[in-house]
Amino acid sequence: MSKICVFAGSNVGNSPEYEQTATRLGELMAAKGIELVYGGSKIGLMGRVADAVLANGGRVTGVMPRGLFLGEMMHTGLTEFHEVGNMHERKALMSELSDGYIALPGGLGTFEELFEVASWAQLGIHKKPVGILNVKGFYQPIADMLTQAVSAGFMRDTNLGLMLFEENPSALLDKMAAYSPPEQANKWTELSK
Ligand code: AMP
Repeated sequence: MSKICVFAGSNVGNSPEYEQTATRLGELMAAKGIELVYGGSKIGLMGRVADAVLANGGRVTGVMPRGLFLGEMMHTGLTEFHEVGNMHERKALMSELSDGYIALPGGLGTFEELFEVASWAQLGIHKKPVGILNVKGFYQPIADMLTQAVSAGFMRDTNLGLMLFEENPSALLDKMAAYSPPEQANKWTELSK
């Protein structure tokens, strides 16, 4: 993996572990020569991970939709910056530029980006690893929701393997490097009868 797209909160959250993990992830990516692709903001965990990559000599590409966010939120120190027309173009370009995805803690924007890449992995649109940094158990309710979707018959258990949950950024990067996508079974139970 040479480029990872990171989805992250545009706020820092109210516990220091969130910022610490974003910073640690950025340091590790720089040390491993993995470029960061992200939303281009200077604020929140998005800004923290970008700052850490840059401070450690790494490369960062930001992709920001024109006019959607206030100008001062744009990170001005990035290696590369792409301005796009809207959120759809942003997600498409971030995806095209990356070999894998990581979600740090965040809110609705982060969840939406995470679920898009996870559901597209399920459809076989891409075969890239989707990592989830489960800092302080932040993503446990989503892990539980996915287990519930399997037990209620809405999701195949093999597709749980499309998302890699880890608390520690170093362990997550190792897991992602070793990832091979699960066997792509037919997603629709009614069609397998
Ligand atoms: P949220 O998790 O709701 O804070 O949203 C974070 C995600 O939504 C990021 O990964 C961005 O793609 C997008 N986003 C939300 N707020 C901003 C912002 N101020 N600047 C750039 N992107 C943002």
